[in-house]
Amino acid sequence: MEDVIILGTGCAGFTAGIYAARANLNPLILEGKQPGGQLTTTSEVENFPGFPEGIDGFDLMDRLRKQALKFGARVENAFVDKVDFGKTVKTLYSGDRKFETRTVIIATGAAPRLLGVPGEKEMFGGKGVTTCATCDGAFYRNMDVVVVGGGDSACEEALFLTRFCSKVTLIHRRDELRASKIMAERTLAHEKITPLWNSALKEVLADENGKATAVRVENLESGQDSEVPCKGVFIAIGHVPNTGPFKGIIPLDENGYFLPEKGSMVRTAVPGVFVAGDCADHVYRQAITAAGMGCQSAIEAERWLAEGQ
Ligand code: NAP
Repeated sequence: MEDVIILGTGCAGFTAGIYAARANLNPLILEGKQPGGQLTTTSEVENFPGFPEGIDGFDLMDRLRKQALKFGARVENAFVDKVDFGKTVKTLYSGDRKFETRTVIIATGAAPRLLGVPGEKEMFGGKGVTTCATCDGAFYRNMDVVVVGGGDSACEEALFLTRFCSKVTLIHRRDELRASKIMAERTLAHEKITPLWNSALKEVLADENGKATAVRVENLESGQDSEVPCKGVFIAIGHVPNTGPFKGIIPLDENGYFLPEKGSMVRTAVPGVFVAGDCADHVYRQAITAAGMGCQSAIEAERWLAEGQ
């Protein structure tokens, strides 16, 4: 029987791990399908306090991991697909494996949203459609690409892609960006980036080898379709929280994010179960706020255990 099991190895999970380990709770951290979380798919992180020169997202997560391990946290690979939260014992299932614990900190993050248009799934991965410029940008050296979305992620992806690609078309469904002012200005000022306003990507078109060659785009004002030739399609339209296994067990909001108890960001309706990071935060969604919630959840778990629950 564990005292604390933490689900997720993003900023929230590892920060919870650091705090729980330093409180001598010997936490077990279960690493899911994306070790290191979303920051491992970003490039430079310029807004994490303490790094005035910026830090590579992968590096930052590697440091958090080392810090948690240094104080005694253990990390195992297991994707939890089912849970049974009793009053004193919480059971987590990962396929045929079973874990028992007194408290759980859920820091499972969020996954990139997709458009659901023809060709997207078929060409996802190596054939032209992706959600991660940092991971895949270099494959599109000297090629034309498109980015879909109007938020900070879309701007970040578009700017990153200018390092490799000959032309970046930014396809957005409205005529202004949702991104922060500084990101929007940088993006629109870049000579390699051309915005395509009021436009919806309707289909990814393939060549005879099944690789992307163009996208079909509808102008939402005129209703007219056009084709934009491109070898890469980068989708950056937000995220879906990874809360599926907890539906019906922990209250969720209408978009599937965890709904904490009133007066707390991390306590849930199930005693001894806490939430942290992007799976419970659709407002701030920052590395530093996720880390802050990880810290809160570990302190809450420690107090809950100390009260002898
Ligand atoms: P976001 O802010 O939710 O933006 C999503 C964008 O995708 C919006 O422009 C939205 O259009 C568009 N969109 C959503 N669904 C769509 C659909 N089905 N078809 C076409 N377009 C669609 O998501 P995000 O950019 O991933 O950012 C999430 C959070 O992380 C934000 O708080 C952001 O500030 C933060 N972030 C910060 C940084 C940084 O500071 N460096 C980097 C990345 C993210 P509408 O505008 O019309 O709604």
